[in-house]
Amino acid sequence: MSVGISGAVADAFNRQINSELKASYAYRAMAAYFDDQQLPGFAKWFIQHAEEEVSHSMRLYDHLVQRGARVTLEAMEQPESEFADPEAAVLAALSMEGEVTAQINELFDLVQESKDFGSQPVLHWFLDEQVSEEDTFSRLLDQVKSAGDSRWHLLALDQQLGGAGASVDEG
Ligand code: MG
Repeated sequence: MSVGISGAVADAFNRQINSELKASYAYRAMAAYFDDQQLPGFAKWFIQHAEEEVSHSMRLYDHLVQRGARVTLEAMEQPESEFADPEAAVLAALSMEGEVTAQINELFDLVQESKDFGSQPVLHWFLDEQVSEEDTFSRLLDQVKSAGDSRWHLLALDQQLGGAGASVDEG
């Protein structure tokens, strides 16, 4: 039974759960690409990011359950797994985060229109998170671009990403 959450809002939250899991799936495919390129630091970084996306989906899942709405999982397409080079893979990740930001903005718009005040705090968290995600990926893209065609610079960056894990924020 639904407690104060409209069908349209619940459907939109369910679509967002799918998007977060799709992002997780896409990052796993990117990790596999980087492993294949002998760049295990990048691979580890993308796997950590994939885990983060699962935790995003669970924030939305928990919100729906708390509001008495039904969680429904949809089908997922096969993720992109071939990239021209590391820069293309990171660019694909950044553009996917841009799409997620647009979806969160739309969801926030719907929740405001529906005067669903209870759904706003969880979406505030996501609005903040998307600012941070886009910043993280655009900084990574800058670093990959700086490495250019130098395998040596790419390996140095790979080591930095694999060692730290610190550049992936909590959430
Ligand atoms: Mg996310």
